[in-house]
Amino acid sequence: MAAVWTCQDATCGRTVETKTTTCPKCGGPVRKVGDAPWRGWLGLLCGLFLIGMMGAIIWNLGPALRETIATGSSVGFTGTAEQAQAILYLFYTIIAFGVLALVNGIYMIVTGSQHRIFIILTVLMAALLVFTVYLAVKDIK
Ligand SMILES: [Zn+2]
Repeated sequence: MAAVWTCQDATCGRTVETKTTTCPKCGGPVRKVGDAPWRGWLGLLCGLFLIGMMGAIIWNLGPALRETIATGSSVGFTGTAEQAQAILYLFYTIIAFGVLALVNGIYMIVTGSQHRIFIILTVLMAALLVFTVYLAVKDIK
């Protein structure tokens, strides 16, 4: 989605597609459209939700997974040690995703704009997530 800035002058209301702080027509203040504050809050809430949810899951499953990794025991977790390791990595990756969404959300709320680095990081994290899901499920028959 291309960013658009609109003039805040009620009688002008011109929209510009290049980054600017003043209206090229009347010189009035402009505001960026599309990066509404709610998007920042949405990121913040998504981040908190992911961290909270995965934190609770790791809290509950972590001991059983770590026991399987350490001893190969299948008490509580019926997969192999490699699967337990991969699932634990997957959980950590999702938490890292949540932290990224949280930081991105705070950044958007504070600055009112989206930084390119967060878009790049989100794509990298998504790739990492797909890879860890693959590691976790590849040996499951
Ligand atoms: Zn204007």
